[in-house]
Amino acid sequence: MATNRKAEIICVGTELLLGQIVNTNAAWLARELSLLGVHSYYQTVVGDNPGRLAGCIRQAIGRSDIVLLTGGLGPTQDDITMAVAASVAGLPLKLHEPSRAAIADYFQRLGRSQVTSNNWKQAEMPDPCIVMPNSNGTAPGAILETRQDDRTVHLVLLPGPPSEMTVMFREQAAPWLQDQTSARLRHVFVRMIGIGESAAETALSDLIERQNPTLAPYASEGEVVFRITQAVASDEEPDTTQAMLDEVKRRVGQHIYEIGLRTMPEVVRDLLIQNNQTVSYAESCTGGLATEQLTDFPGASRVLRGSLVAYANAVKQELLGVPADLIEREGAVSEACAARMAEGCRHLFATDWAVAITGVAGPDGGSDDKPVGTVWLAVSGPDGTVTQQLRQGGNRARIRRVSALRAHDLLRQQLTR
Ligand code: ATP
Repeated sequence: MATNRKAEIICVGTELLLGQIVNTNAAWLARELSLLGVHSYYQTVVGDNPGRLAGCIRQAIGRSDIVLLTGGLGPTQDDITMAVAASVAGLPLKLHEPSRAAIADYFQRLGRSQVTSNNWKQAEMPDPCIVMPNSNGTAPGAILETRQDDRTVHLVLLPGPPSEMTVMFREQAAPWLQDQTSARLRHVFVRMIGIGESAAETALSDLIERQNPTLAPYASEGEVVFRITQAVASDEEPDTTQAMLDEVKRRVGQHIYEIGLRTMPEVVRDLLIQNNQTVSYAESCTGGLATEQLTDFPGASRVLRGSLVAYANAVKQELLGVPADLIEREGAVSEACAARMAEGCRHLFATDWAVAITGVAGPDGGSDDKPVGTVWLAVSGPDGTVTQQLRQGGNRARIRRVSALRAHDLLRQQLTR
């Protein structure tokens, strides 16, 4: 299909309406749609109520060509999305034999011989539809077709759990969507650190105004991410993203740490793997967050030996060997303390590298010379110890997250020297 079709997103679930869970599905899907070059104009959250859900679907069909729905595909009474969508589209539900077999197989693999009768409900699919098998759960997804005036409208039904939804979308819905749009996009992500967003935008302002390829900033915390996008008519068209990338590198190259999709902890992990080296962390104000950021990604076990949350001064002294009089003289948030924490940590865990973080995350505990947001980082390694002071704005959560990110970056700088 050659025309560009308008999309919108409906997330179904009373828990979403009550604020019991955050609607990460909408944000994730919206981002994926934009990467695919599909324009989406509305997002709706609706509870598990058949009448209101049907109303939302009818409204969406009236103004969009592709309606993506998440949630409510499960086996329970309040999982109504498939039945309501089928009814609005004027399609009957019919037992879909491959889905029934897949559900039986899923339970057998889990070692549960008794499949409750409501599970078979998930094999009742609109007829006709494209069934999207669920490789991570029992509820299959579906793509339904209906007509609105002289338009064809598609409903794309995805499960609610993000782990199921994202895989089904990437593997099955995205390739289908790609065929629905004339846009073919080439993307290059450029990730930078150590430069503010406004400084980066100023340095690149004339490039940001250019069309095809476009250069657009991406919201990101503690770092700056840009996306270069080229729209092409076919895959054979020459790649012009590289020329734009070269110009970006020429202007802000010293701040670029990744051209691609890897995040800072993944870059650090890969550098350590490449060097066959290990790391440990001594974390005070971040309380283990830097370690968590690293362990969020597979392969962390190849480089991380361990970490210590050294919150109390006594722990800094007893387990990391920071002298009591140093803390008394300089304070726990000081360059000297961070350096001794990193050195003690490197010794304690017997690693090639150790990273220490100590700071005032607030909202209390700040002083004139060490206001909230003052953080000292240290990295101890084979050639000695380096330190860095951060002074950050924002609330406690942001200060902690950005401190952890910058600590990874200080290590990255040592690894790439
Ligand atoms: P299941 O087969 O597990 O019942 P489902 O398709 O019926 O899946 P829901 O029952 O609506 O999905 O939601 C299951 C869980 O998925 C929720 O409890 C929540 O943890 C997560 N979830 C659902 N919708 C969203 C959303 N929009 N954003 C983030 N998480 C969500």
